[in-house]
Formats: sequence, C-alpha cells, structure tokens
Amino acid sequence: GDDMTYPDDVDVAIVGSGPTGAAYARILTERAPSARIAVFEAGPVLTDPPGMHVKNIADDAERIAAQRRSEGLRPHTDSTAGEYADPARRVVRPGTFLLESGYQVDGEDGLPALAMSTNVGGMGAHWTGACPRPGDAERIDFLPDLDELLDEAERLLSVDKHPFAGAPYTDVVRDRLAAEFDPGRAADRRVQPMPLAVHRRDDGALIWSGPDVVFGDVTRDNPNFSLYAESPVKRVLIEDGKAVGVHVNGVDVRARYVVVACDALRTPQLLFASGVRLPALGRYLNDQPQTVFAIRLRDVREPAADTGDATEIVGQSGVGWVPYTDEHPFHGQVMQLDASPIPLVSDDEPALGTIVGLGWFCGKDLQASDRIEFDEDTTDDYGMPKPTIHYRLTPRDHETLARARTAILRAATALGEHIGTDPFVLSPGASLHYQGTTRMGPVDDGTSVCGPNSEVWGVDGLYVAGNNVIPTPIACNPTLTSVALAVTGARNIAAHLTTPTAAATTGR
Ligand code: FAD
Repeated sequence: GDDMTYPDDVDVAIVGSGPTGAAYARILTERAPSARIAVFEAGPVLTDPPGMHVKNIADDAERIAAQRRSEGLRPHTDSTAGEYADPARRVVRPGTFLLESGYQVDGEDGLPALAMSTNVGGMGAHWTGACPRPGDAERIDFLPDLDELLDEAERLLSVDKHPFAGAPYTDVVRDRLAAEFDPGRAADRRVQPMPLAVHRRDDGALIWSGPDVVFGDVTRDNPNFSLYAESPVKRVLIEDGKAVGVHVNGVDVRARYVVVACDALRTPQLLFASGVRLPALGRYLNDQPQTVFAIRLRDVREPAADTGDATEIVGQSGVGWVPYTDEHPFHGQVMQLDASPIPLVSDDEPALGTIVGLGWFCGKDLQASDRIEFDEDTTDDYGMPKPTIHYRLTPRDHETLARARTAILRAATALGEHIGTDPFVLSPGASLHYQGTTRMGPVDDGTSVCGPNSEVWGVDGLYVAGNNVIPTPIACNPTLTSVALAVTGARNIAAHLTTPTAAATTGR
C-alpha cells in the first residue's frame, strides 16, 4: 500500500526500492513469510505494478513523464528524451539526475557525470539490463558460494543468457569479435552474447526487467509486505550498537533489522547522517572509466524492412560481450546505445541496424582517497549531509584507458568501418556504475564497512546493499553482482528471523 500511515514497528525496514532493495524483500518473503517487511522509497510510484522498467511503457508521452518524475527536484528530460549531452561534458541520461555541486574538487578529475534516480525502482527502472558475471579479479574471493548467489540473482532478475539468438547479425558480431579476442581465453571469458534481464511476452513484445520483476507476484501478494513511496528516510535509529528502526517523514518506525539500499552515494550518506562513521565509509569509491566508439558493420545484407522494429538494433545484432580478464582489465559491450553519444554523420543514411556502438569499461585502480566526504554542517536539497566527491584517475588508470582504446579500435576494425576517427572517453561517472562506498570485507580491519553478510561492522542488524557493497574493482555491469550480495544478506536476516536459537544467541 502507498498510504502514508506507517506501522509502529516491522521486522525488516528496507530503505530504497531499486533492484537490491527489491531483492531483500523477495528473498525475505520466500524464506521468512511471516516477517513484516516495509520498503521505504524516497521517490514516487511510476507504474503499476510498482518498479516496472519505463521502457515497457508504450506511450512516448507517458514514458517521458515517468522519466521526468525520476529526476529529482530539477527534471531535465523533455520531448527530446534519448539525447545525450556533449560526451566531453556532463553526460546525463533520461530518468537520472546529476549532483548540482560537489562533483569535482579543483585539481581533481571528480565525477562530473555521477547520476542517480529517485523513483520506485530506482535506476533499475531505467537500466539497460546487461547482466554479465564477474570474472578473475572482479570476483569476491572470500565468498565461496558466489556462483550459487549469482544463479539466484539471475533468477530474481529474470536473466536470459541468449537473448536475440535469432537476430540477423548476432553471429556476425560474435564471430568477428571472437576471432579477434578469443585466443588464449578461458571458456567463460570468451566472446559471447550479453546476458540480459529481458524476456519476450507470448505476443513477442520485449519486456525489460525492472525491480517489479525482482519483487515478483510472491512479494506483491505477501500480506506482510508494504511499499511506502515518497518516504525519504532521514536517519536509521541506532541504540546501544543496534539498528532499531528508521526515521521517515517525521515518524519513527521501529524495526528489528534495517537494510539501506539507497545507491552508492546515498547509502553512505544515510549511514553518516545516522552517526555510523566507520573509517572506510564513502571511501574506495570507484566508477568505471569508459571509452566509446561506433562502427558500421561491414559486408552484411541489409535487413528486410519488415523484420521487427527496425530502429531497435538489439533486435538486429543483439548485445555482444567481450569479458574482463586480468590480462585485459576491461569489459567490452557491443550494441546500439539507447542514444549514441557519438555524433553520427547526419548526411549519411546508414542501413537499418548496421550501426553498432562499442563501449569499453575499465576496472579502477582502487584508492582510499577516492571518496565521498559528507559535511556535518551543510545539507543538500533533501536536507541530508552535503556530499563532496574526491576522485582521481591514477597513472595506472590512464594506462588502462589507453589499453582499452587499443582494444576498442581492434574490435571496431574487426567489425566494420569506423564512424569518426577516435574513441571518446566519457566524463567520469558516465558509467552509472559506482562501487565501493560501503564495501564488504572478510574482517573488520578499517578498509571495509560491512562483513560477508552485508551487516555493518559494529552495528547489529544494520545491513547495506547496492553496488557500493562490491569490494573489487569490477569492470562489468555490477547489478547482477550486487543483487547476488543482497541475496546472501537477506538469507542471513531470514535465518535470524526463523531460527529461535540464532535469535537467542544474538539477543534478538
Ligand atoms: P538504485 O536502483 O539506484 O535504487 C536506489 C533507490 O534508493 C532509489 O530509488 C532512491 O530514490 C532510493 N533512495 C535513496 N536515498 C533514499 C532515502 N534516504 N530514503 C528512501 N529511499 C532512498 N547496471 C547493470 O548492471 N547493467 C546495465 O546494463 C545497466 N545499465 C544502466 C543504464 C542506465 C541508463 C542506468 C541509469 C543505469 C544502468 N545500470 C546498469 C545501473 C543499475 O541501474 C544500477 O546498478 C542498479 O539500479 C543499482 O541498484 P540499487 O538497488 O543498488 O540502487
């Protein structure tokens, strides 16, 4: 229900309704059906069911309205939705908004394109749905059951590993990239179709997974589950080293467990506002430096004009994936971008579906000094501690970007004719993948904020979720991994709630 009468107390309060907050609600519903679960989301409900991907809204005007309603206090998307800003400046996508200030300190790179979404579903109502598995150094080596957790995350997000199998250019793209990159790679790190959180309806329509899919009917039908939109949490209530509830819209709601799933910027912000100020809070911030290019596929037959939606190249070439490896520490994605940041030559009408965008994302050289600092005395537009981003690309990052440039040019040459002469490097933050600010660690040694179950060190019952929990310099799209981490945290809470002995030993 979206009524504003909050319960006095619940078993689990989840703050944030993106894919990771939704994953907690889903797993808790499945494993602890009698637990009373409340999700508090700062933004509005856009869709019915709540949290649906806006791409599934067929009507253009309705979709644009939903995007604008996700853009906070200064919505920017208008009827030109889909256009990118100048890639050299602050790239901003429909459905997201940027920091007004504090994104760059003099003399540093900063994260000018750091973006967020404020709506039921979070960025998960606007994402591309690419769900690759992490490999090599992207993996979290102290989690022995990571693969099983990733299986669960694929179930929750409804990931299809071979979407667009029948698309006319899928094989062409894969074969050309494979010839270039596969030699010497382990089987799981070879060129392959990008797993996507997408399915086809019986009538053939493409349905993109948003958090509505993660919640699922089982959660929506759970009489002990409630979703409260337009309910920004200002503080987690903490007493004697235990999380005991949340303060929302002037009301205290007591809870036995609190999960903060507010994205990589606002999760550490809410912890800071609640007096949780571990040394690693906000640190090891990492975005994926990203370079992009475009090509026209060489030597392919033009698709027949009546094959599906000709403007949707995913329907023509699918999405290709060149996985990260330690030797090649970047993640390659080959697809039509929602709207290309590359100015295409306008007087040159390409064959439908033959223009392909390439994006290479790099793993960051992790630094404790890359961090979000919060100001005790100054507040942001929402009355929360004002963030300032400290962020630098190191010499190693510049070297990795230079190597990614070489790799993207190799991929481009293998596939077709270059469009433009040089790959672009997007402004930092444009990846939309921000990790590390409440990172997980195997032990409390000052370099992590939570343990392997996502429970914050030193605060019983307080859990964190999101890409911010990922401790590795991941280069691939992170949502599958952060949903996997949410699965293990939710199972841990469910075990406490359903095992009397565990409850007794933790005093709960
Ligand atoms: P979010 O989805 O960001 O949700 C956080 C929620 O918390 C928001 O709804 C916010 O309003 C709410 N919140 C914040 N503060 C408070 C508060 N104090 N009280 C209450 N609520 C609060 N990732 C991929 O893996 N693959 C992709 O292909 C991909 N493509 C993308 C394309 C686009 C255009 C965008 C925008 C993102 C893309 N991403 C992709 C990133 C992906 O969307 C995020 O990784 C994912 O949504 C993160 O989930 P989350 O639950 O941690 O946070």
